Amino acid sequence: MRQTIAGVPIDALTFQEAAARALELLSDDRQHMIVTPNPEMAVLAARDPQFKKILFTSSLALADGFGLRLAAWWEGKQIPETITGVDFGLALAQIAEQKKCSVYFLGAGEGTAEKAAQNIQRVYRKLRFAGASAERIRWINGKWEEEADLIDRIAATEPDILFVALGHGKQERWIKDHLSRLPTVRLAIGVGGALDYYSGKKKRAPGFLRALHLEWLWRLGVEPWRAWRIFEATFVFLGLVLKNPRKKVQ
Ligand code: UDP
Repeated sequence: MRQTIAGVPIDALTFQEAAARALELLSDDRQHMIVTPNPEMAVLAARDPQFKKILFTSSLALADGFGLRLAAWWEGKQIPETITGVDFGLALAQIAEQKKCSVYFLGAGEGTAEKAAQNIQRVYRKLRFAGASAERIRWINGKWEEEADLIDRIAATEPDILFVALGHGKQERWIKDHLSRLPTVRLAIGVGGALDYYSGKKKRAPGFLRALHLEWLWRLGVEPWRAWRIFEATFVFLGLVLKNPRKKVQ
């Protein structure tokens, strides 16, 4: 069931249910976007109504981050579990392998998408990659600046599933603006930093920190320049949630 939590859409599903839903979406004849709202995205959505609207056009919205669960509790709602984009991307790779669907990795830094694809291929050996490329994609003054043939190049590889790693906000907007011109794509997902992790460029927080919901602390340690973003994802987000009174479970 879709809920609005901290102002963003969240489908309250377990990981297994979400994977089953992705499989259903892949099998129908429409195009779908998957988003993984996290606290930082909720903060952006509160400031940018257009971004918020785009999130609500998604077919599947997964709560990426413990903050969303806390917000759900505050709002008297429930999310069975949090589902990170990094983990769900792997589930999609597995589904793609089983269903013989091809995958395209778009975005991330130079060489990262390619390396990520190689590493994923080692795990899901029969998975077919349509392509992987970094590309120079910019959103300037309300317009996309990108290679004129970018869409044709991706379309020519006929991917079924598209992973877009352009950072939150930008990647969801890019999907919304380009998906209809990529007719073979059934599922497009904004994966944020997932390709950085698949490629080995970045390391995830150790399991015990993740279990304690302290991944943000790890990120602060390894990427101190992200301090402002981490501040937004924690304290600004909390402010956003706490400005409404607490509600009891509905
Ligand atoms: N990225 C990109 N182009 C951009 C902005 C970001 O390719 O204009 C890539 C970046 O290199 C990284 C990924 O998008 O691999 C996710 O960036 P970030 O970690 O900032 O994502 P977020 O956590 O904000 O979703």
